[in-house]
Amino acid sequence: MGKAKVRKIHDQQLRTLLCFAIVAASIGVSSSGQPTSTQQARQALAALHPVDAHAHVFQSDPALTRMLEQWNLHIVNILVVDDKGPTRRPLDQQRADALAFIHSARGHASLCTTFDPFRLSQPDFPKTTIDQLNQDFANGAIAVKVWKNIGMELKDSHGHYVMVDDPRLRPIFQDIAAHDKTLIAHQAEPDVAWKPDPKAIDTSYYAEHPEWDMSKIPGAPSKAAVLASRDHLLAQNPRLRVVGAHLGSMESNVDLVAERLDRYPNFAIDTAARVPHLTIQPRAKVRAFLIKYQDRVLYGTDTDIMRKGDVNPSITDLQKQLAEDWRYFATADTFNYDGHMVPGLQLPLPVLRKLYHDNAVHWIPGLATGSVP
Ligand SMILES: [Zn+2]
Repeated sequence: MGKAKVRKIHDQQLRTLLCFAIVAASIGVSSSGQPTSTQQARQALAALHPVDAHAHVFQSDPALTRMLEQWNLHIVNILVVDDKGPTRRPLDQQRADALAFIHSARGHASLCTTFDPFRLSQPDFPKTTIDQLNQDFANGAIAVKVWKNIGMELKDSHGHYVMVDDPRLRPIFQDIAAHDKTLIAHQAEPDVAWKPDPKAIDTSYYAEHPEWDMSKIPGAPSKAAVLASRDHLLAQNPRLRVVGAHLGSMESNVDLVAERLDRYPNFAIDTAARVPHLTIQPRAKVRAFLIKYQDRVLYGTDTDIMRKGDVNPSITDLQKQLAEDWRYFATADTFNYDGHMVPGLQLPLPVLRKLYHDNAVHWIPGLATGSVP
């Protein structure tokens, strides 16, 4: 760690302390009945040095850097090998795009790398995969992502679905743990991918992406089987830190998440793209869950910014989402979230600090924003 970085961290600590009062004041405004503006949300959130622990950004643009600076936001930038998505580039190109963004973000982003699981049956798979990951770690990657194609798409040479606890993947997870890096695991999908429901939150996604609609794929594994393989991975690798993306794909009920958090001390979850699922569960129950498991939940958005195209609408969307999520987690406002009226959780400030910053730093060591002693 260079001197400049140490000084930056000290500055950050000082600014955090100075901003503490502003945060309390902003929350106070909303609790007294005034609606919380985006400006207030930004001010309150920026004081916490928020981390978006789950995003996919492949474009570098000064407007984006400016926005990250304004919100004091740090992004964990995640690579995904997706052989179905026409917009997702090959791994080497993605990595180059992601690193260019990280460089342009001036300390506001870190890399979560991945590997190509479709090479699984090649004899050199373990070695070349581990070599590639170690190269990424040497270049600053702080985590590794495994995606839903493991469990829901990838098949071996016998035509069997490959699960995340497959013995052929084990040396890779052992190597990640040996390097003290974190695994971000997105296994399974929302319930609606197996049980169509026109009223479900994510129904439109499966209309657009029938390739992930497991209810239409004969022989597809059940959601329970996919989650069981993830649980088995947790049990088999107690020294591997695992962050389960998207509420660990147990979005329908925080009790299911609590059960796993109780059982596996090496497991945490992120909220990426699943805050709407929290807002439709009973307020008191969700609030109690987030307070009880305040050390195990990381804030994330799942923002996706492609390499090409106008970045400004994405910046607007991201700011809107940050403000709305803050309003939900931090304030007592009752407001329209995603088409329905939602009462804010008004979580205590120490819990918000963990959700938005401390847990990311703890569960994904090496974040540029997170090396506070
Ligand atoms: Zn994602």
